[in-house]
Amino acid sequence: MAQPTSPEGEEWPCPGFAAHPCNWAAPAEVALDWRSETRKVNSPNRQRVIAYTCSCQETSYEFLAAGGLYRFRRVSRRTPETVAYAGPWHRVRAEMLWGLLIVGQAQ
Ligand SMILES: [Zn+2]
Repeated sequence: MAQPTSPEGEEWPCPGFAAHPCNWAAPAEVALDWRSETRKVNSPNRQRVIAYTCSCQETSYEFLAAGGLYRFRRVSRRTPETVAYAGPWHRVRAEMLWGLLIVGQAQ
């Protein structure tokens, strides 16, 4: 697996087992509709994390499934920490978008 190129260095040690989205690629082709969310749409125990990106990055992403729909959660560790969601989509589209996100073609 490729090592991260984070300028933060050792600030967030890399556990090294999750994907690192490309954030140096050309401008993303797909702009996801991220929305900050404060209300609880899905209770945590009904929401499954299918995939996630490495926690050593300043911004990490989770691929969530709940009730047959799929969403992404984006967590930025800048201060203050911000959380936003994109989706929901049906599985085929969500998997396609997740793939684009990992290769830096969607943001
Ligand atoms: Zn990492």
